[in-house]
Amino acid sequence: MIDLIQELWFLPRDLVSDAFDQALNRLALEIPMTIHEYPTGEMCWTWRVPEKWTCYEAYLETLDGKRLIDWANHPLHVISYSLPFDGIVSREELFRHLHVHPRIPDATPYIFKYYERDWGLCTSQTVKDGLTEDAYRVIIRTTFEPGMLKVGEVVVQGESQETFLLVAHLCHPGMVNDDLTGVVVGLEVLKTLLVMPKPHYTYRLLILPETIGSVAYLSHHENLIPDMVGGLFLEMLGNDSPHALQGSFQPQSQADRCLFSAFRNLDPNGYTGSYRSVINNDERQFNAPGVRVPMLSISRVEPPGSPTRPYREYHSSFDTPAIISQDRLENSRDLILGLIQAWESNQFLVNQFKGEIFCSGYGIWIDYRQNPEGHRRLFEIMERCDGEHTLADISNELMISYQSVWEIANMLHNKGLLKFNRKPQPTDPHQRKL
Ligand SMILES: [Zn+2]
Repeated sequence: MIDLIQELWFLPRDLVSDAFDQALNRLALEIPMTIHEYPTGEMCWTWRVPEKWTCYEAYLETLDGKRLIDWANHPLHVISYSLPFDGIVSREELFRHLHVHPRIPDATPYIFKYYERDWGLCTSQTVKDGLTEDAYRVIIRTTFEPGMLKVGEVVVQGESQETFLLVAHLCHPGMVNDDLTGVVVGLEVLKTLLVMPKPHYTYRLLILPETIGSVAYLSHHENLIPDMVGGLFLEMLGNDSPHALQGSFQPQSQADRCLFSAFRNLDPNGYTGSYRSVINNDERQFNAPGVRVPMLSISRVEPPGSPTRPYREYHSSFDTPAIISQDRLENSRDLILGLIQAWESNQFLVNQFKGEIFCSGYGIWIDYRQNPEGHRRLFEIMERCDGEHTLADISNELMISYQSVWEIANMLHNKGLLKFNRKPQPTDPHQRKL
């Protein structure tokens, strides 16, 4: 994962750009991938695919030709989708178009103006403070032209058409944690799923430019939306912060219940948050009206209240390979695989018994004098095995980990007392009269 990141991070990967295509084509060498193309100007629901944007050069110099800021040194020195500009400007005029990072004096910020149509350069506060002359020369040579917005799609076909999505964006020029880490971790997860026994659910990984890429894909695959039963947006998985699992717009969905209850056990150091309380990304397009896929998100984000949230180097030139580690990427990959494993096993529990189980007769009695907690849990879980509760429902109701419900359900299953079913199968005799 680190090698791929080293190879691709510094490219100026803007929404529709040659460098975005270059990065996506490189990723497609890693795994079988379909690349969808949406031409500039095409309507995608209420959105329109933007032009391809190319920067050839962008710099600021003194009137006697001393170069002070140069895009050739870092892709963040020009705002993404900057208009071209060539002229001499007063310092005052320049400062209206010169962006600096609000917190880190030596970092260059990431600024994008996809739809505003403005020109601009970015630099550090330190460099800006040194700009004392009355006038400067600005050269920004950029072009806007018809192009193709690209979305990479990797599919692992399951037994069911019902689909669980993984989504990551690739459109952040010269940065690493946001957004390349989500892309490479997603790729590793799909690589692992490809060599495992065929899963129940179909898995789709989408690698796209933020927001417009999701809207373009969804608006061209409306037929697939009814089968999208859950998803996870991936980003910021390499920095040194705890995992944060953010719920979907539908916190009562099976995806939310299952992933939340499994997460607690898989990563006791992680924390959870409700929809839009941790990050704001492509998961919004999937959760939105007319789509309504319960899409959660996983990322490493400083805890609520931290002044540098989501992380110190966010959207700046300090977001480099130095702030991530292969260990943390692997740890995030394993966490996501653990969540998927729970999701695969989340079924309705259908009792093959009536009345309370004669536990001692089946050798599953837990003595309440020795283990009162275990005794209570066994009965609480047993009571809810009625063909109407999934494993995730029960763990949420009882506020215990998914894995502990799974252990007891599995034990009952092994004794022939329980069957797993993908659909509800109520065993309450009163329902038959309805
Ligand atoms: Zn971002």
